[in-house]
Amino acid sequence: MKVLKFGGTSVADADQIRKVKDIIAAASGERIFVVVSALGGVTDLLIHAAELASARDESYVDQAREIEKRHLSTIKALLPITAQSGILSKVKTELNTLDTLLEGAYLIGETTPRLLDRIVSYGELLSSYIISEYLISEGLDARLKDGRELIITDENYGKANVNHAISEKMCRTYFSNSTEQITLIPGFVASSENGNSTTLGRGGSDFSAALIAGALKADSLEIWTDVSGMYTANPKLVKQAKAITHISYEEAMELSHFGAKVLYPPTIQPVLSKDIPIVIKNTFQPQDPGTTIERNKSENEKSVRGISHVPNICLLTLEGPGMIGIPGTSKRFFEVLSQAQISVVLITQASSEHSICIGVDEADAPQAEKLVNEAFAYEIEASRLKPVISEGDLAIIALVGDQMKSHQGLSGKMFSTLGKNNVNIRAIAQGASERNISAVIQRADVKKALNSLHETFFEENIKQLNLFVMGVGNVGSKLLRQIEKQHTYLRKNHRLNIRVIGISNSRKMLFDEEGIPLREWEERLSKGAKADSKLFFEQLKDLNYRNSIFVDNTASEQVAGTYENYLRNSIAVVTCNKIACSSELEQYSLLKDISRAYNTPFLYETNVGAGLPIIDTLKHLIASGDKVHKIQAVLSGSLNFVFNNFNENTTFAEVVKRAQEEGYTEPDPKIDLSGIDVMRKILILARESGYLLNIADISNNSFLPEESLAADTNEAFYLSLEKH
Ligand code: ADP
Ligand code: ASP
Ligand code: MG
Repeated sequence: MKVLKFGGTSVADADQIRKVKDIIAAASGERIFVVVSALGGVTDLLIHAAELASARDESYVDQAREIEKRHLSTIKALLPITAQSGILSKVKTELNTLDTLLEGAYLIGETTPRLLDRIVSYGELLSSYIISEYLISEGLDARLKDGRELIITDENYGKANVNHAISEKMCRTYFSNSTEQITLIPGFVASSENGNSTTLGRGGSDFSAALIAGALKADSLEIWTDVSGMYTANPKLVKQAKAITHISYEEAMELSHFGAKVLYPPTIQPVLSKDIPIVIKNTFQPQDPGTTIERNKSENEKSVRGISHVPNICLLTLEGPGMIGIPGTSKRFFEVLSQAQISVVLITQASSEHSICIGVDEADAPQAEKLVNEAFAYEIEASRLKPVISEGDLAIIALVGDQMKSHQGLSGKMFSTLGKNNVNIRAIAQGASERNISAVIQRADVKKALNSLHETFFEENIKQLNLFVMGVGNVGSKLLRQIEKQHTYLRKNHRLNIRVIGISNSRKMLFDEEGIPLREWEERLSKGAKADSKLFFEQLKDLNYRNSIFVDNTASEQVAGTYENYLRNSIAVVTCNKIACSSELEQYSLLKDISRAYNTPFLYETNVGAGLPIIDTLKHLIASGDKVHKIQAVLSGSLNFVFNNFNENTTFAEVVKRAQEEGYTEPDPKIDLSGIDVMRKILILARESGYLLNIADISNNSFLPEESLAADTNEAFYLSLEKH
């Protein structure tokens, strides 16, 4: 005997319900209990309707119509016409009662928790009725049983506590007194001993199914949902996440407690004590193996099994000298919270006993803050404690794994990964079981943190680099071509996956969060938004990708002036533009200092010698204690070209023009011909060699006539070359 549970997306509409029927039909060789959720999204609609009604907002009626439409259209699409009328009229009667309840809330301007539970129970009551009628019409031996007659709770509406002894008895009695092959049960709903409808908390259908499986000692509990199991991280946020094939109860519990919504946390407890395996399967890809949750069955010896997060966290800190050495402060602190049924998600206390810091759901934070301030009013008044400090917009991110305790250095790896990606950590907790290491971070950093940690712990060390390329002229367009050509090689041999997320030239800019297909960048860029280097930076920062690199392929002074912003946000800068490195010594030193302080690369190898490894070589020489006495070099590719090709058959101006056409010169050829470019290179080489010079320390015997040097456009420049 087994129990199958189908979630909201699995029963969202007629097409999905047909797939569900196939799965049920295939499983019903033995007796099965099938628990269903409300049609996807209906619980939210019901809650929203109740909220509007109690706020005396008439548009609750629109929500009610939407709910009606969802159910009636499903019946019409699913059931044979001959069977429809009876079912439609029964559902309409139920919907009328729902309307009356909502109208009551509207008239009084209030929804009590008891009324709200009554209202939301309609989601599961209707879906289970419709699905049971459909199964019967398909010739299956199915029967509907109201979950409220099987699961008995207290009257803690919204998230009622189950009376396990009575509920087990009810389930067993029903089981032995019934004979149908398929018993269909609405999940999520229960009732109190007084017969009032209650619910088990959002996502609670999983729990209903587990309670029934536990009571009937089922062989297995199958949770059918819209993903192929429990993943190494939420697959909606981490593209590279993979389904875990085997996982222990404890690990699954830890992951679900810390946000892996695929399993409602209380689900494990009723089946764990009876050793009933839970199998999570995908309704839309039933052939996928899914995840099996069993006792101590961890696949291989992987230390970290999964990464999860809780999005809406607020940190509350109570601190002050009045806490030191005085027993009972923590007790009072936690007592007030527990009396108000506020659950504490995370606790940290520094060993000095100077402060206690807890993480609570953001929705509970204002009340928690008020209660704690009241409870410690005397101490706060006497300045022995400070009023509670509350910080919102936070999230918890947690690494989970049974084997973590036997591996050293995991937290080091976790925190250095987060640090490298500029994710600030507000608080840390490690459970005594060492099955979980959690950190509190800014909510805006969750996606980046999840992806970085996933890369560190699961992705065979393939590092993803996210490039933002500014300037796609001569150098930039070749760089893009090179990246495209070397992509497979770099992935295979250097374990680097390079994606170009943003491109800009002086006219247009383009972003694609999935990576710009490099074969079509020109076409895509031509349709991009208007270029704006400030917006480019803002967008890059907002995307908040890990391993972000800003690549400057321009020769622009204005772009060089933006590096500081990038580096300060832990975004690496790679540039062939010489302006920053040959700017005033102060500015150059500042960039180097920021790069060191933020541990963020600032690289400019191509500033001198194009593709030759000159700067890197110098750095190594200096690092190993060498002193550079002298450098002899011909540093200008453009001057080289000009002098090699200047002969009696050409004019000087013609040769320079050719050099420019063939890509040897800077966009402004005067920068090369005047010697300025060479000065910059000398300055950069000197600085890399440890000589902290300024451009004024370099003398330049330029061969250009004054008039050419003064030319302010390329045209004027060429005219003056011809003239002289
Ligand atoms: P159902 O309606 O079937 O109960 P839920 O929406 O409650 O489905 O749970 C499934 C969702 O859980 C997935 O679509 C996914 O977005 C989310 N989820 C979060 N973390 C994980 C994880 N680690 N593995 C799988 N799914 C996850
Ligand atoms: N329908 C309920 C909810 O949306 C219960 C569930 O789907 O598990 O929370
Ligand atoms: Mg769910």
